[in-house]
Amino acid sequence: MKIDCKTIAEKMKEEIKKKCAGKGLRFGIVQVGDNPASNAYIKGKMKDCAEVGIEASVFKYYEGISQESLREKISFLVNSNTLDALIIQLPLPEQLCLEELVDLIPAKMDVDNLKGTSPFIPATPKGILMLLDYLGEDLCGKHLVMIGRSRIVGEPMAALATGRNATVSICHSKTPPNVLKELCRSADIIVSAVGKRDFIERDMINTAKRQLLLDVGINRNDEGKLCGDANSEIYDIDTLDYTPVPGGLGLMTRVGLLENISSLR
Ligand code: NAD
Repeated sequence: MKIDCKTIAEKMKEEIKKKCAGKGLRFGIVQVGDNPASNAYIKGKMKDCAEVGIEASVFKYYEGISQESLREKISFLVNSNTLDALIIQLPLPEQLCLEELVDLIPAKMDVDNLKGTSPFIPATPKGILMLLDYLGEDLCGKHLVMIGRSRIVGEPMAALATGRNATVSICHSKTPPNVLKELCRSADIIVSAVGKRDFIERDMINTAKRQLLLDVGINRNDEGKLCGDANSEIYDIDTLDYTPVPGGLGLMTRVGLLENISSLR
Protein backbone atom coordinates (compact mmCIF):
# COMPACT_ATOMS: atom_id res chain seq x y z
CA MET A 1 0.00 0.00 0.00
CA LYS A 2 1.20 3.49 -0.81
CA ILE A 3 2.12 5.62 2.21
CA ASP A 4 0.51 9.03 1.89
CA CYS A 5 3.55 11.15 2.75
CA LYS A 6 1.86 14.28 1.43
CA THR A 7 -0.87 14.24 4.09
CA ILE A 8 1.61 13.15 6.77
CA ALA A 9 4.01 16.00 5.88
CA GLU A 10 1.18 18.55 6.04
CA LYS A 11 0.22 17.36 9.53
CA MET A 12 3.84 17.51 10.67
CA LYS A 13 4.23 21.04 9.31
CA GLU A 14 1.24 22.15 11.41
CA GLU A 15 3.07 20.96 14.54
CA ILE A 16 6.35 22.58 13.45
CA LYS A 17 4.52 25.86 12.83
CA LYS A 18 3.39 25.83 16.48
CA LYS A 19 6.99 25.25 17.61
CA CYS A 20 8.24 28.17 15.48
CA ALA A 21 5.60 30.65 16.63
CA GLY A 22 7.10 33.78 18.16
CA LYS A 23 10.72 32.66 17.67
CA GLY A 24 11.44 34.73 14.54
CA LEU A 25 13.81 32.08 13.18
CA ARG A 26 16.03 33.10 10.25
CA PHE A 27 17.42 30.53 7.84
CA GLY A 28 19.93 31.07 5.01
CA ILE A 29 20.67 28.97 1.93
CA VAL A 30 23.93 29.45 0.02
CA GLN A 31 23.60 28.55 -3.66
CA VAL A 32 26.33 28.65 -6.27
CA GLY A 33 25.31 28.64 -9.93
CA ASP A 34 21.89 27.96 -11.40
CA ASN A 35 21.46 24.17 -11.30
CA PRO A 36 17.77 23.51 -12.21
CA ALA A 37 17.39 20.70 -9.65
CA SER A 38 18.88 22.93 -6.91
CA ASN A 39 16.52 25.74 -7.93
CA ALA A 40 13.57 23.37 -7.53
CA TYR A 41 14.74 22.09 -4.12
CA ILE A 42 15.35 25.63 -2.89
CA LYS A 43 11.92 26.73 -4.08
CA GLY A 44 10.40 23.89 -2.03
CA LYS A 45 12.41 24.83 1.07
CA MET A 46 11.39 28.50 0.76
CA LYS A 47 7.72 27.52 0.46
CA ASP A 48 7.95 25.24 3.50
CA CYS A 49 9.65 27.93 5.58
CA ALA A 50 6.99 30.48 4.65
CA GLU A 51 4.30 28.00 5.69
CA VAL A 52 5.72 27.40 9.16
CA GLY A 53 6.87 30.95 9.89
CA ILE A 54 10.64 30.70 9.31
CA GLU A 55 12.21 33.65 7.48
CA ALA A 56 14.32 32.13 4.69
CA SER A 57 16.84 33.87 2.41
CA VAL A 58 18.83 32.58 -0.55
CA PHE A 59 22.37 33.89 -1.08
CA LYS A 60 23.06 33.07 -4.69
CA TYR A 61 26.55 33.41 -6.19
CA TYR A 62 27.74 33.01 -9.74
CA GLU A 63 28.98 29.63 -11.02
CA GLY A 64 32.63 30.71 -11.34
CA ILE A 65 33.07 32.16 -7.82
CA SER A 66 36.47 31.34 -6.28
CA GLN A 67 36.95 29.42 -3.04
CA GLU A 68 38.44 32.53 -1.43
CA SER A 69 35.51 34.79 -2.39
CA LEU A 70 32.95 32.25 -1.22
CA ARG A 71 34.84 31.81 2.06
CA GLU A 72 34.54 35.56 2.63
CA LYS A 73 30.82 35.59 1.81
CA ILE A 74 30.07 32.65 4.13
CA SER A 75 32.23 34.09 6.94
CA PHE A 76 30.33 37.34 6.63
CA LEU A 77 26.96 35.56 6.77
CA VAL A 78 27.76 33.46 9.83
CA ASN A 79 29.21 36.44 11.71
CA SER A 80 26.47 38.88 10.77
CA ASN A 81 24.14 37.84 13.58
CA THR A 82 21.26 37.83 11.12
CA LEU A 83 20.88 34.06 10.74
CA ASP A 84 20.07 31.18 13.09
CA ALA A 85 20.82 28.45 10.55
CA LEU A 86 22.74 28.16 7.29
CA ILE A 87 23.04 25.43 4.68
CA ILE A 88 25.03 25.09 1.47
CA GLN A 89 22.90 23.73 -1.36
CA LEU A 90 24.65 20.83 -3.11
CA PRO A 91 26.10 20.14 -5.61
CA LEU A 92 28.82 22.79 -5.72
CA PRO A 93 30.90 23.51 -8.86
CA GLU A 94 34.16 21.55 -9.07
CA GLN A 95 36.50 24.44 -8.18
CA LEU A 96 35.01 24.64 -4.68
CA CYS A 97 36.02 22.52 -1.68
CA LEU A 98 32.93 21.78 0.42
CA GLU A 99 34.83 20.52 3.50
CA GLU A 100 36.70 23.79 3.88
CA LEU A 101 33.54 25.88 3.44
CA VAL A 102 31.57 23.78 5.90
CA ASP A 103 34.29 24.42 8.50
CA LEU A 104 33.20 28.06 8.51
CA ILE A 105 29.66 27.23 9.67
CA PRO A 106 29.32 26.93 13.46
CA ALA A 107 27.88 23.55 14.53
CA LYS A 108 24.85 25.23 16.11
CA MET A 109 23.88 26.70 12.68
CA ASP A 110 24.68 23.55 10.64
CA VAL A 111 21.11 22.18 10.42
CA ASP A 112 22.01 19.86 7.48
CA ASN A 113 24.91 18.49 9.56
CA LEU A 114 27.28 18.93 6.63
CA LYS A 115 30.15 18.84 9.14
CA GLY A 116 29.14 15.36 10.29
CA THR A 117 29.68 16.36 13.93
CA SER A 118 26.89 18.92 14.44
CA PRO A 119 24.02 18.22 16.84
CA PHE A 120 21.49 17.62 14.05
CA ILE A 121 20.39 14.46 12.26
CA PRO A 122 20.78 15.04 8.49
CA ALA A 123 17.43 15.93 6.91
CA THR A 124 16.68 12.68 5.04
CA PRO A 125 17.35 10.26 7.93
CA LYS A 126 15.59 12.73 10.24
CA GLY A 127 12.53 12.72 7.94
CA ILE A 128 12.63 8.91 7.75
CA LEU A 129 12.71 8.59 11.56
CA MET A 130 9.82 11.05 11.84
CA LEU A 131 7.85 8.97 9.31
CA LEU A 132 8.61 5.71 11.13
CA ASP A 133 7.48 7.28 14.41
CA TYR A 134 4.32 8.62 12.79
CA LEU A 135 3.53 5.13 11.43
CA GLY A 136 4.23 3.58 14.85
CA GLU A 137 6.97 1.46 13.27
CA ASP A 138 9.17 0.12 16.08
CA LEU A 139 12.64 -0.79 14.72
CA CYS A 140 13.61 -2.93 17.72
CA GLY A 141 14.39 -6.47 16.55
CA LYS A 142 13.56 -5.69 12.92
CA HIS A 143 15.93 -6.39 10.02
CA LEU A 144 16.59 -3.18 8.10
CA VAL A 145 18.50 -3.30 4.81
CA MET A 146 20.15 0.02 3.97
CA ILE A 147 21.13 0.18 0.30
CA GLY A 148 23.67 2.96 -0.23
CA ARG A 149 26.27 4.29 2.20
CA SER A 150 26.48 8.03 1.48
CA ARG A 151 27.48 10.47 4.19
CA ILE A 152 24.12 12.24 4.09
CA VAL A 153 21.74 9.27 3.87
CA GLY A 154 23.02 5.68 4.06
CA GLU A 155 25.70 6.03 6.71
CA PRO A 156 23.69 8.06 9.27
CA MET A 157 20.49 6.08 8.60
CA ALA A 158 22.26 2.77 9.28
CA ALA A 159 23.73 4.14 12.53
CA LEU A 160 20.39 5.57 13.68
CA ALA A 161 18.57 2.30 12.96
CA THR A 162 21.24 0.40 14.91
CA GLY A 163 20.71 2.88 17.75
CA ARG A 164 17.03 1.90 17.70
CA ASN A 165 18.01 -1.76 18.04
CA ALA A 166 17.34 -2.84 14.46
CA THR A 167 19.57 -5.49 12.89
CA VAL A 168 21.10 -3.52 10.03
CA SER A 169 22.60 -4.78 6.77
CA ILE A 170 24.45 -2.14 4.77
CA CYS A 171 24.64 -2.81 1.02
CA HIS A 172 26.58 -0.81 -1.55
CA SER A 173 28.00 -0.93 -5.06
CA LYS A 174 30.34 -3.81 -4.17
CA THR A 175 27.59 -6.00 -2.67
CA PRO A 176 27.02 -8.96 -5.03
CA PRO A 177 23.51 -8.79 -6.58
CA ASN A 178 22.55 -12.26 -5.27
CA VAL A 179 23.52 -11.27 -1.70
CA LEU A 180 21.58 -8.01 -2.01
CA LYS A 181 18.54 -9.90 -3.25
CA GLU A 182 18.63 -12.43 -0.40
CA LEU A 183 19.08 -9.70 2.21
CA CYS A 184 16.18 -7.71 0.77
CA ARG A 185 13.94 -10.77 0.78
CA SER A 186 14.67 -11.34 4.47
CA ALA A 187 14.24 -7.66 5.41
CA ASP A 188 11.38 -6.11 7.34
CA ILE A 189 12.38 -2.66 6.10
CA ILE A 190 14.33 -1.76 2.94
CA VAL A 191 15.73 1.75 2.59
CA SER A 192 16.95 2.36 -0.95
CA ALA A 193 19.27 5.32 -1.58
CA VAL A 194 21.00 4.26 -4.78
CA GLY A 195 19.85 6.68 -7.47
CA LYS A 196 19.12 4.08 -10.19
CA ARG A 197 15.65 3.64 -11.60
CA ASP A 198 14.15 0.12 -11.68
CA PHE A 199 16.79 -0.95 -9.17
CA ILE A 200 14.31 -2.58 -6.77
CA GLU A 201 12.66 -5.33 -8.76
CA ARG A 202 9.90 -7.81 -7.93
CA ASP A 203 12.30 -10.69 -7.19
CA MET A 204 13.87 -8.65 -4.33
CA ILE A 205 10.51 -8.42 -2.54
CA ASN A 206 9.23 -11.25 -0.35
CA THR A 207 5.50 -11.63 -0.86
CA ALA A 208 5.27 -14.09 2.05
CA LYS A 209 5.69 -11.36 4.66
CA ARG A 210 4.87 -7.72 5.22
CA GLN A 211 7.71 -5.42 4.12
CA LEU A 212 8.21 -1.66 4.20
CA LEU A 213 10.10 -0.01 1.32
CA LEU A 214 11.42 3.50 1.91
CA ASP A 215 12.53 4.82 -1.48
CA VAL A 216 15.01 7.70 -1.23
CA GLY A 217 16.17 7.59 -4.87
CA ILE A 218 15.37 10.42 -7.24
CA ASN A 219 15.63 9.49 -10.91
CA ARG A 220 14.00 10.25 -14.25
CA ASN A 221 12.17 7.72 -16.42
CA ASP A 222 12.17 7.62 -20.24
CA GLU A 223 9.48 10.32 -20.35
CA GLY A 224 11.61 12.56 -18.12
CA LYS A 225 9.25 12.14 -15.16
CA LEU A 226 10.56 11.75 -11.60
CA CYS A 227 10.76 8.21 -10.27
CA GLY A 228 12.43 6.43 -7.37
CA ASP A 229 14.71 3.37 -7.20
CA ALA A 230 11.72 1.01 -7.25
CA ASN A 231 10.29 -0.37 -10.45
CA SER A 232 6.65 0.79 -10.22
CA GLU A 233 5.53 -2.74 -11.16
CA ILE A 234 6.14 -3.80 -7.54
CA TYR A 235 3.60 -1.29 -6.23
CA ASP A 236 0.76 -3.79 -6.67
CA ILE A 237 2.28 -6.30 -4.22
CA ASP A 238 -0.31 -6.58 -1.39
CA THR A 239 2.22 -7.24 1.37
CA LEU A 240 4.36 -4.21 0.50
CA ASP A 241 4.00 -0.77 2.06
CA TYR A 242 6.03 1.80 0.13
CA THR A 243 6.80 5.48 -0.20
CA PRO A 244 6.19 6.79 -3.74
CA VAL A 245 8.40 9.10 -5.81
CA PRO A 246 7.43 11.89 -6.20
CA GLY A 247 5.38 12.61 -3.08
CA GLY A 248 7.41 10.45 -0.71
CA LEU A 249 10.67 10.86 1.15
CA GLY A 250 11.47 14.13 -0.64
CA LEU A 251 8.61 15.66 1.37
CA MET A 252 9.79 13.95 4.56
CA THR A 253 13.32 15.28 3.98
CA ARG A 254 11.92 18.79 3.78
CA VAL A 255 10.03 18.23 7.03
CA GLY A 256 13.23 16.87 8.61
CA LEU A 257 15.06 20.09 7.80
CA LEU A 258 12.20 22.23 9.16
CA GLU A 259 12.17 20.18 12.37
CA ASN A 260 15.91 20.80 12.80
CA ILE A 261 15.48 24.55 12.31
CA SER A 262 12.44 24.69 14.59
CA SER A 263 14.49 23.16 17.43
CA LEU A 264 16.74 26.26 17.52
CA ARG A 265 16.41 28.84 20.31
P1 NAD B 1 25.18 8.68 -3.64
O1 NAD B 1 24.52 9.12 -4.92
O2 NAD B 1 26.31 9.47 -3.09
O3 NAD B 1 25.67 7.18 -3.75
C1 NAD B 1 24.88 6.13 -4.23
C2 NAD B 1 25.01 4.94 -3.30
O4 NAD B 1 24.43 3.83 -3.97
C3 NAD B 1 26.47 4.57 -2.99
O5 NAD B 1 26.64 4.42 -1.58
C4 NAD B 1 26.69 3.25 -3.71
O6 NAD B 1 27.54 2.36 -2.99
C5 NAD B 1 25.26 2.69 -3.81
N1 NAD B 1 25.13 1.83 -4.98
C6 NAD B 1 25.41 2.14 -6.27
N2 NAD B 1 25.21 1.06 -7.07
C7 NAD B 1 24.80 0.05 -6.26
C8 NAD B 1 24.45 -1.30 -6.47
N3 NAD B 1 24.45 -1.84 -7.69
N4 NAD B 1 24.09 -2.05 -5.40
C9 NAD B 1 24.04 -1.52 -4.15
N5 NAD B 1 24.37 -0.23 -3.89
C10 NAD B 1 24.75 0.55 -4.93
O7 NAD B 1 24.04 8.53 -2.50
P2 NAD B 1 22.99 9.63 -1.96
O8 NAD B 1 23.57 10.98 -1.97
O9 NAD B 1 22.48 9.04 -0.69
O10 NAD B 1 21.84 9.62 -3.07
C11 NAD B 1 21.18 8.42 -3.45
C12 NAD B 1 19.88 8.76 -4.16
O11 NAD B 1 19.01 9.41 -3.23
C13 NAD B 1 20.02 9.75 -5.32
O12 NAD B 1 19.07 9.42 -6.29
C14 NAD B 1 19.70 11.08 -4.70
O13 NAD B 1 19.21 12.01 -5.65
C15 NAD B 1 18.62 10.68 -3.74
N6 NAD B 1 18.43 11.57 -2.58
C16 NAD B 1 17.16 11.93 -2.32
C17 NAD B 1 16.90 12.73 -1.23
C18 NAD B 1 15.47 13.10 -0.95
O14 NAD B 1 15.22 14.13 -0.37
N7 NAD B 1 14.51 12.26 -1.33
C19 NAD B 1 17.93 13.19 -0.42
C20 NAD B 1 19.24 12.78 -0.70
C21 NAD B 1 19.48 11.94 -1.79
